[in-house]
Amino acid sequence: GRKFVVGGNWKMNGDKKQILEILQNLKISTDTEVILGVPALYIEYVISNLPPNVQVAAQNCYKVPNGAFTGEISPAMIKDVGAKWVILGHSERRNIFNETDVLVAEKVAHALESGLKVIACIGEKLEEREAGKTEEVVFRQTKAIVEKIKPKDWSNVVLAYEPVWAIGTGKTATPAQAQEVHQALRKWLKETVSPEVAESTRIQYGGSVTGANAKELAAQPDIDGFLVGGASLKPEFAIIINAKQ
Ligand code: 13P
Repeated sequence: GRKFVVGGNWKMNGDKKQILEILQNLKISTDTEVILGVPALYIEYVISNLPPNVQVAAQNCYKVPNGAFTGEISPAMIKDVGAKWVILGHSERRNIFNETDVLVAEKVAHALESGLKVIACIGEKLEEREAGKTEEVVFRQTKAIVEKIKPKDWSNVVLAYEPVWAIGTGKTATPAQAQEVHQALRKWLKETVSPEVAESTRIQYGGSVTGANAKELAAQPDIDGFLVGGASLKPEFAIIINAKQ
């Protein structure tokens, strides 16, 4: 079976005081893998105050180890300060900072080669869903990654399906809508990569996940976890972590 995996994506939120409050509230009492995506500046602070059984992710990185890339950070640096994961291809990176499918895929490949684990985000915009292009978009985004990484590296990848229209809007995908895309993605992975990769790769759902809707989403057969934004800053994150029983 696929181990349930819940990420909290803090985005550009939190200061030292709030971080301590969040960490003190986090008591993990399930098998669920928990990963906090924190601002890079605070990675070491979070690690030095981390409860047991919680891991840390950066929210972005560049595609080479070092060099003249002002303002960027590398997977080597993320590892050096003790984090083991990076979130890549978030829709805010794609849409606000114009990251292309190819750049995201290059970043994923370099992060994996550097020994980080990756939460790779994909998802369609509202107009793409309304035009019936949801699968076309998520397959295109995933294909770019498939073309750049080795099949064996999929064991270090979690896919996060985050429909852009559901992010920060309070409009959660229904369990049926999310399951439909997750199932289609798994079938596509089977045909495009391998049956083993399709069976073992965890696919998170993200987009307005709350303590109130997490259980029903978690019950879907192809939903293997969540990537949580706003609610990961609140006490209800504990409810979401425990949604899969
Ligand atoms: P919200 O949970 O705030 O909708 O954000 C989802 C998200 O973007 C997680 O990466």
